[in-house]
Amino acid sequence: MTYDFDLFVIGAGSGGVRAARFAAGFGAKVAVAESRYLGGTCVNVGCVPKKLMVYAAHVADEMEQAAGFGWTLEEGHFDWGTLIANKNREIERLNGIYRNLLVNSGVTLLEGHARLTGANEVEIDGQRYSAKHILIATGGWPLVPDIPGKELAITSNEAFYLKQLPKRILVVGGGYIAVEFAGIFQGLGSATSLLYRGDLFLRGFDGSVRTHLKDELDKRGVDLQFNSDIQRIDQQADGSLKATLKDGRELLTDCVFYATGRRPMLDNLGLEHTGVELDERGFVRVDDQYQTTEPSILAIGDVIGRVQLTPVALAEGMAVARRLFKPEQYRPVDYRNIPTAVFSQPPIGTVGLTEEQAIEAGHKVRVFESRFRAMKLTLTEIQEKTLMKLVVDADTDKVLGCHMVGPDAGEIIQGLGIALKAGATKAQFDETIGVHPTAAEEFVTMRTAMR
Ligand code: FAD
Ligand code: NDP
Repeated sequence: MTYDFDLFVIGAGSGGVRAARFAAGFGAKVAVAESRYLGGTCVNVGCVPKKLMVYAAHVADEMEQAAGFGWTLEEGHFDWGTLIANKNREIERLNGIYRNLLVNSGVTLLEGHARLTGANEVEIDGQRYSAKHILIATGGWPLVPDIPGKELAITSNEAFYLKQLPKRILVVGGGYIAVEFAGIFQGLGSATSLLYRGDLFLRGFDGSVRTHLKDELDKRGVDLQFNSDIQRIDQQADGSLKATLKDGRELLTDCVFYATGRRPMLDNLGLEHTGVELDERGFVRVDDQYQTTEPSILAIGDVIGRVQLTPVALAEGMAVARRLFKPEQYRPVDYRNIPTAVFSQPPIGTVGLTEEQAIEAGHKVRVFESRFRAMKLTLTEIQEKTLMKLVVDADTDKVLGCHMVGPDAGEIIQGLGIALKAGATKAQFDETIGVHPTAAEEFVTMRTAMR
């Protein structure tokens, strides 16, 4: 049987583009369909614009610190419109780069909504294409709980395009996006509240990290409201919003921003024409090699709901391209010790097991923890503390987890990710000579176990 394509990828996001480019590089005939924006979530409404906005918010810190170093600055004025316009220009530039990457690697780019019409067939704008393999890489979409007034709320998708900076904002949720955007809006000057339904945000992160970040956000004046959940949202006569909480409290605000997780993007995908099954959480069910329950169809990235991070989608895309078209180079994705950062203010960097996970897994642990005021702040009035923590297996001396809250945590944790992957022991951390004077050297100079 001959097909129009060897591989048809649905979705030109992080995972889809990586799989398509590498498959084409291995000699396969490849098409990619994209309905919305080249580069997907990360480039358009995720990692990239978010990080640019984190930088923007951080300028406020730099200005506050300047006086201690002898600088007198005129009172700063922030213009939201300029930030958004500049950000949009950069995203357009990246969209162009993604287009060139695909076209130059010989991939056929089809811009439109793709719908499966069979196990080996996809339809776009009334045109049908056949393919030996089809890869679903359609990503995710913000999930807002079904409450009265939910249409008045925004999600991360809209936050990147607001016409103006809200004077007051309620961010709902306690995961990556809620914590990051609370920092962005607070830094840019909005009076920011973060509402989380549980006792403490960032469930699943190390306990010391969670309490440390809570203390730092308190110091920065973010209004943290835990054990709080919105029951309904109503528009007021003056255009503002009233959020009524389940405990009866009423909060007035200009913007309610839901960051309560993401669902797989399966809208009008035509899965019913195939044997593709979903798992109990509604994500596409795949085996260890990303094959769905329909043998010719694979799926990777956020739509399979494993680890919703760009570098993971990239690794999965690479694994699929190799498995199908360069099997001698195939290596499974290693989901252990994935380093990750939360770009809060201050940021979190983490890799490996939390103290709680290590204990739960039966390790006898030694915990090293250091809290200090970064050198950069010593000439300023700012009292922010940095946290660094190592979780070590007491029997084998292996470092099980590294956790940090403080400036450049994401940058620092990347290198520690390599150390953990290599199976480094605490003795090897101790033997490593520090880079002085840096905050990072604390990771190789912590000598006394706290517990
Ligand atoms: P996506 O990148 O979402 O790509 C899917 C693509 O498929 C989209 O372009 C979509 O338009 C297209 N599509 C969907 N359905 C169809 C269809 N039927 N036909 C044609 N095209 C279709 N991760 C990090 O590692 N670091 C970060 O700092 C980070 N920050 C984030 C911040 C935010 C606000 C968000 C929302 C996410 C962030 N992420 C971050 C997560 C990261 O963006 C995702 O994990 C990553 O984009 C997933 O890649 P993907 O290829 O699975 O899907
Ligand atoms: P997360 O899954 O990280 O967090 C969702 C939060 O919303 C949790 O605190 C959860 O609470 C809460 N929640 C869920 N449902 C409800 C509800 N019905 N009512 C109230 N609260 C609710 O999702 P995000 O949307 O923050 O981000 C999605 C994913 O995108 C992340 O998990 C991450 O993988 C990725 N991402 C990565 C970033 C990075 O690498 N820096 C940045 C941004 C996103 P509970 O804990 O109680 O369940």
